[in-house]
Amino acid sequence: MTQIKPARTRFAPSPTGRTHLGGARTALYDYLLARQTGGQFILRLEDSDRKRYVPGAEEELMRSLHWLGLEWDEGPDIGGPFGPYRQSERKDIYQEVARQLIERGHAYYCFCTPERLEKVRQEQIKNKQNTRYDGTCRGLDPEDGARRVANGERHVVRFKMPNQGSITVHDYVRGDITVENSNLDDMILVRSDGLALYHLAAMVDDQLMKITHVIRTVEWLPTFPLHAHIIRAMGWEEPIFVHPSVFLKPSGKGKMSKRESAEALKDGYSIFIGDMEPLGYLPEGIVNWAALMGWSYDGSTEFFTMPDLIEKFSLDHLNPSPAAINFSKLDHFNGLHIRSLTTPDLARRVKPFFEAQGYTVDDVTLLRVTPLIQERMVTLDDGPVTAGFFFKEEVSPQPEELIGKDMSPAESSQAAQKAYELLASLPDITKDTAEEPMRQLAEQLELSTGQLFGILRVAVTGQKVSPPLFESMEIIGKDKVLERVRTAIDLLNALA
Ligand code: GLU
Repeated sequence: MTQIKPARTRFAPSPTGRTHLGGARTALYDYLLARQTGGQFILRLEDSDRKRYVPGAEEELMRSLHWLGLEWDEGPDIGGPFGPYRQSERKDIYQEVARQLIERGHAYYCFCTPERLEKVRQEQIKNKQNTRYDGTCRGLDPEDGARRVANGERHVVRFKMPNQGSITVHDYVRGDITVENSNLDDMILVRSDGLALYHLAAMVDDQLMKITHVIRTVEWLPTFPLHAHIIRAMGWEEPIFVHPSVFLKPSGKGKMSKRESAEALKDGYSIFIGDMEPLGYLPEGIVNWAALMGWSYDGSTEFFTMPDLIEKFSLDHLNPSPAAINFSKLDHFNGLHIRSLTTPDLARRVKPFFEAQGYTVDDVTLLRVTPLIQERMVTLDDGPVTAGFFFKEEVSPQPEELIGKDMSPAESSQAAQKAYELLASLPDITKDTAEEPMRQLAEQLELSTGQLFGILRVAVTGQKVSPPLFESMEIIGKDKVLERVRTAIDLLNALA
């Protein structure tokens, strides 16, 4: 289906915890659909349950969405024509719809006490029946009910599920789903404290906010028939409902627990968007990866920028099967996007990671270093690990690591000495001036280039793995290179 009508989509999180990858993907799909069709992407906070409210969750959510580039057109912070965009500020609206549902015979006041309901529940469990409301207040005279409510009697509002017949609901990716009404419960719409539950509040908001596509997790599928009942009872137009796949933990067995998330963080991974920036991920990498968790374009194209996704995304290619989180895939996409950045852009983004490790970074050097590390970087925090030596006055190699492969310390020292003399004789050290003579030197000394360059690499960079050696020497500069080789010779002599 080509989406031509402007779509109004909404991301409607409850600020009850941190924003995770699954939520970000839902928001991304919402955003893509809205942008593709020239519609609007709305942020709505489902914050009416104050007991579950987590301070700071809202701020983290908004920061995460901004960071990913998912800018909303209407929302609690910026307002919009269909506000307020916070459910805690819309209580009266839900009450009014609940009243209308009662008036039309689709809902009723229920005065059952929690104690009685618990008794019923226990009885049902004992008799191996499904636990559900037993319908005691269904038949109450509505006027009677209204009077008791006016007298301040404790009550809830329940949906009056038809006893007979069935309902067919349509999920865009899963098709038609038909259920017998007799299998559905008279769910609570408004609690005794006047708080509307999701089932009512979300349907009301989607209607009043003129939402055309509801994209939400598959956990809402069991209550989807109830939602459709509410919409139809009110005579409203139904939005298109889409329940994409869930994210499973890497093993594919169930959802990621709190403990498992903490474990992942130790390995440099997280399921929370707020952790991703300090871990060195690019928003572009996450967006690309998340988009493909449950959607594919042609089954083979894997690199997508946000503009590509806006152009190519389609609900038609959503995959309803659960998707196991694959962090190495995420690394792969992050690497792809790191390589696609321009040098100045990457330099700008990697700089804070050097600084966080205590390096003082001058931009001119950083711009020269960046292309050398770009190819191999997976996350931005690889920058200081592979290239911190460029910004150090001195490096401190492990003396043992200076020993060439299959060589003694004395042989390694002699080879380093020859290399020192050669490098010192050059007017300056660049790839062009130094590499070829060094190769010849290795030959003369009957060493492999691996042996000789290995010694020099550890001497000059302090590490066994580094960006290309001669390009690195060029940036470090002749004086410092010679100084470092000199120190290495001393260290090797001390081992000999
Ligand atoms: N507040 C609900 C949740 O966080 C929103 C579901 C929806 O998008 O309708 O699960």
